[in-house]
Amino acid sequence: MSMNHPLSTLLPRILLASLLYCLPCTPALAESQLEFEETETEAADDENVEDIESSKPLRKNIDHARKISHPDQAGASEDPESSPKKKKIAPHINLKELAPPPGVQSFFPETGASETLEPEPEPEPKTATETTPKDPNEVTPTVSHDQASNPESTNASDTDPTKEVARTITLLGTEIMPGTSTRLSWSSGMQIAGLSQSTPVLVVNGSKPGPTLCLTGAVHGDELNGIEIVRRTLYDLDPEMLAGQVIGVPIVNLQGFQQGSRYLSDRRDLNRHFPGNPTGNLADRIAYSLFNEIISHCTMLVDIHTGSLKRTNLPQLRADMNIAEVRTFVKGFDRMAVVHSSGTGGMLRTAALDAGIIAVSMESGESLRIQEKQIKAGVNSLNSLMEKQNMISRLFVWGKPEPVYYDSYWIRAEHAGILFSKKKLGDRVIKGQVLGVVTDPITNASHAIHARATGRIIGMAVDQVVMAGFAAYHIGAETEIPDEE
Ligand SMILES: [Zn+2]
Repeated sequence: MSMNHPLSTLLPRILLASLLYCLPCTPALAESQLEFEETETEAADDENVEDIESSKPLRKNIDHARKISHPDQAGASEDPESSPKKKKIAPHINLKELAPPPGVQSFFPETGASETLEPEPEPEPKTATETTPKDPNEVTPTVSHDQASNPESTNASDTDPTKEVARTITLLGTEIMPGTSTRLSWSSGMQIAGLSQSTPVLVVNGSKPGPTLCLTGAVHGDELNGIEIVRRTLYDLDPEMLAGQVIGVPIVNLQGFQQGSRYLSDRRDLNRHFPGNPTGNLADRIAYSLFNEIISHCTMLVDIHTGSLKRTNLPQLRADMNIAEVRTFVKGFDRMAVVHSSGTGGMLRTAALDAGIIAVSMESGESLRIQEKQIKAGVNSLNSLMEKQNMISRLFVWGKPEPVYYDSYWIRAEHAGILFSKKKLGDRVIKGQVLGVVTDPITNASHAIHARATGRIIGMAVDQVVMAGFAAYHIGAETEIPDEE
């Protein structure tokens, strides 16, 4: 037990770090330094805590709710001549098939894409079957390139000019036809050109009109559940059956992901720098690139996170419930805890809201782990959202058709020592109940941590060495959210 005492773990690291400073610079040195610095950051509070404690209180009066409006929504039929650059047309890639190796060029061989799609295709007469609703359980055949190059939008507008039609979207300089899905690449362009690495962007453009839902994972590079949630959600979509578009960026912070770190290579938290600045620091520039190249195309955004190091979360949304549209939006998430948080400056979620995009964060599980249960909860809830938004129809079986709303607070440890929890994530607790005990490994003094009010454990620290003041339990009390209607 004494092995876990902070001094016994910290001292060797200090010695190691100072020893390594004396050695010539090697990759090993860089890594060890990184590890050491990160240890200090780990102990700090993170946005998981800050998000709740710095939130503006939930207003009960809906009349004063802030309204948001997406500047592009009105004329969102198609990107006008916004991009003077020559666009290429994305080939349809069946996302259910094995992915080709990464890299923009390999996805879009100049010849392949232009040969198939360059001549303006004569639209084929639309067949009745295209508008017939399909059995959602039926396995739909793969859409071929030929189908992809004949957007049905042209046909639909021929028959009924007033009818809203599916649109071709332009993303990252590439046109994506209705009824197709594809894989693009985004790079912030901040690296040495020859060494530049791009991160995949999955796009499914539905054959029917609808909103644009964006899903982002691993804005913090060590939060892995979101990567899998984005993958499963996107790869399960059939463009022929989809209304609207879904854009997924499974690994936003590729640098952090490769290093197993929450942060960017400059030690900054990317989720404090949105919407970014093209002339600012590295994080500002990366944030700016992501925001302008991708996020600005979304009408709705779910930014997926996990608890940060050594804290775990029940699957939950962090949402600014003072905004009317957000209140309506979160109703679509099945079996999710919804925790009010107005968010802090620089977060992707708050920057998106400021730009008129309806945005929430989803928190599920722990960092550095892949957790099947938490992933399933996320995927399930995103599917229910798409169903509620009329984007998909899967005869979704609603468990409890509404999410559960919580007012919440964090309880901090008052003493340093080793924390052992008596309760599990998701447990219901009553006021005064013991949640866990912190024991000083040297003096053997034990101090219990009590619940201050009745509620449910929606987030908690895993058993570990804690210092006084460490945020240990996130307790949510169920609350009523006033209805708009
Ligand atoms: Zn995060």
